[in-house]
Amino acid sequence: MKRIEQMTFWERIYLPEILRGLVVTGYHFWRNLFLNLAHQVGFLKNRRSMVTVQYPDERKRYGDHYRGSHRLTLKEDGSVRCTSCFLCATACPANCIYIEAAESPDPTVEKYPARYEIDTLRCIYCGYCVEACPCDAIRMDTYVHPRIWGYSRLDFVETKEILMERSRVIAERGRDALMDDMLKSYRS
Ligand code: SF4
Ligand code: SF4
Repeated sequence: MKRIEQMTFWERIYLPEILRGLVVTGYHFWRNLFLNLAHQVGFLKNRRSMVTVQYPDERKRYGDHYRGSHRLTLKEDGSVRCTSCFLCATACPANCIYIEAAESPDPTVEKYPARYEIDTLRCIYCGYCVEACPCDAIRMDTYVHPRIWGYSRLDFVETKEILMERSRVIAERGRDALMDDMLKSYRS
């Protein structure tokens, strides 16, 4: 970027740059409007009118390292893998994980989470909980972004059941199933 003393007179008064910006914006606006109207009557279908992704009708696949909504991983018998050690809740900088530990029915495990909740309105999606977990019980590889609408704060609290269900859906229908379901819910 140029420093102010390096700028020319015309650059300092900004007017030409403002006009240049308006010309660029206007060009794209009129071009897109013209192409959209042409598409409506069946012409120029091979010319794409917009450069942005028409979300949610179109979407780009999230990358492999996308940090999405959480899920609680499951054991082979379908029970929750979490042992209620509280390391994730301790590591969480937003203090948004709530766990209630209970005695596990499995004699090989001391505890399990009778309640496990994440308040997604407070979560900053930093991933510290995933890093802190010693038994790979919580992951953020759901490839779905957080819920963005609701009628009360409780709509944004993800319970143990929701977090476990995500693991089941991914195991049964693949990595993009949750995002597909979310987009369907947008349309309906
Ligand atoms: S992603 Fe970060 S803020 Fe969200 S629950 Fe995990 S540790 Fe807390
Ligand atoms: S998710 Fe992992 S770190 Fe958190 S309580 Fe369960 S076992 Fe511990």
